Amino acid sequence: MTVNIFGPFWPYLRPYRRKIALGLALIALAQVVATAIPYALKIAVDTLKEGFEARHQIPAFEQVILRDILLYAGIILGLALVQMGLQMAMRWYLNALSRYVEYDIRRDFFEHLLRLSLNYFHRTPTGDLISRATNDVNAVRMFLGFGIRMLFDALLALALGMAVMCAIDWQLALYALVPMPLLALLMNRVAAGIHVGFRDVQEQFSRISARVQENLSGIRVVKAYVQREGEMAIFDRLNREYLEKSRKLIHIESIIRPLAFMVSGASLVVILWLGGERVLNGQLSLGDFVAFNAYLAKLIFPMILLGWMIDRYQRGMASMTRINEILSVQPEIADSDTVRPVSDIRGEISFQNMSFAYNGTPVLHNINLHIPSGSTLAVVGRVGSGKTTLGRLIPRLIQTDAGEVLIDGVPVADIPLQTLRAGIGYVPQETFLFSDTLRENIALGRPEASEADVNWAAEAARLSNDLQDFPLGLDTVVGERGVTLSGGQKQRTALARAVIRRPEILILDDAMASVDTHTEEEILERLRGVMAERTTILISHRISTVQGADQIVVLDEGHIVEQGTHAELVALEGIYAEMHRRQQLTQELDEI
Ligand code: ADP
Repeated sequence: MTVNIFGPFWPYLRPYRRKIALGLALIALAQVVATAIPYALKIAVDTLKEGFEARHQIPAFEQVILRDILLYAGIILGLALVQMGLQMAMRWYLNALSRYVEYDIRRDFFEHLLRLSLNYFHRTPTGDLISRATNDVNAVRMFLGFGIRMLFDALLALALGMAVMCAIDWQLALYALVPMPLLALLMNRVAAGIHVGFRDVQEQFSRISARVQENLSGIRVVKAYVQREGEMAIFDRLNREYLEKSRKLIHIESIIRPLAFMVSGASLVVILWLGGERVLNGQLSLGDFVAFNAYLAKLIFPMILLGWMIDRYQRGMASMTRINEILSVQPEIADSDTVRPVSDIRGEISFQNMSFAYNGTPVLHNINLHIPSGSTLAVVGRVGSGKTTLGRLIPRLIQTDAGEVLIDGVPVADIPLQTLRAGIGYVPQETFLFSDTLRENIALGRPEASEADVNWAAEAARLSNDLQDFPLGLDTVVGERGVTLSGGQKQRTALARAVIRRPEILILDDAMASVDTHTEEEILERLRGVMAERTTILISHRISTVQGADQIVVLDEGHIVEQGTHAELVALEGIYAEMHRRQQLTQELDEI
């Protein structure tokens, strides 16, 4: 039964099944002991009553009765102590278990996120993912922590209690238990309501998280555009909706306990009424009557627990479903079945009749290119002409079915992702630095890099001079996302991060836009040394950056419209020559 009820949780519980079994065994023992206590009470009452009725025949009656009272009190106390010990051990086991499961789910969730494709993150708000990883994982833990224990505990308490009650007087037991099926029916209805209600609450919380996350990421824009009030109004609306949804859930949940109390109260009335009558008629001993009441009192709590369990179970299920929604997303880009055992790449790249569209919007058209290993290809073109998209296709950050991108003659889809990306140093337009030291940021892709490697990379990216101005040099912490660095410093850190891996292919996507022309020239000069036998893709809008390239292509609206060396393209008198002329003019004007 455990397997069925814990269906979606089972994969996470399975590794701990031994621990669970032991915990459940302890619960069973504790319940048997707990069930024995009212029975001991019954024997005590009956013995004392018999003794009292026969008090005239017993010499030294008072001592005898005192001894009996002490004896039974001792037995009951002893049993209670054993029960306490067992329950403590069981809690220790099962509560720790929920923390293990929480740990496992969170680890899997994060690992899965890291595997998902870029595209997925373009579609999904970060705040939503964070909310699932925290809030929903908590709800699952809350259920598992108490859930397994309580379910088993409550069911066992009910079963044992009822069994003993039936053994004492089955007719009376039946009367007492009549309201139970009614309770079960009502609880079932309530459970469905909780599931939906809690899912709504969690979804709303995701929306709030997403909004907060975006506001914090864009805090500069929010401030610069004086959007505090506007954003606050939006947040307030979301927060209020959350409140309303939570209130609705509370309304549904609030019925559970009173319902359980009412049903048990009804049973108690039945027993007092019918049981009292039976005692007066002599059909039931006083001890039985006392024990019966004690058992019923013991059943109230499991009944309430069952109700509570239904609540937690539904919450846990709703949350587990939300977690599974993410876990079941297949990464769009992963190693395919046709993957070949390629262990390293040399760096020859070709595009064959390759086209690409973002969600149906064509961006690149029929691209054919051959980039020999060790050469430099420069890509220029207007904003939006598809340069970045072209660069992203090489490390398979995005992929297409129309045509092919090959490295060393092998389609990128057939190269193990690990090999492919390890061989490529990609510096995107927007640099991202972690809130860590410069050293950690540079060595990101090569954690084992030595001090000399890091220094070499910093030198190659012309970061070394700046390092002298930082208080702790390479050990300076860059602030969240690198806010404490200038745009150019961030870009050069990103560049150092790419070259430290000494990749076979280096892709620089406008990676020096925030670096001044003079420094850029110095960097390019050094890169020529570093990249001497490696392939470089240089995406830029500056002609001065690209003129030394072996091959230059001009993209316009996703088409290659011009192709050749700097001299050839200038002679062509086309788009490139025009860009060149304009940039030269600007430069001359700047120099005046
Ligand atoms: P460039 O680097 O030359 O400025 P891009 O390759 O970034 O050009 O963009 C080419 C076109 O693709 C643009 O029209 C842009 O709006 C669109 N585009 C870029 N990224 C995405 C994306 N993730 N989803 C949808 N469209 C995109």
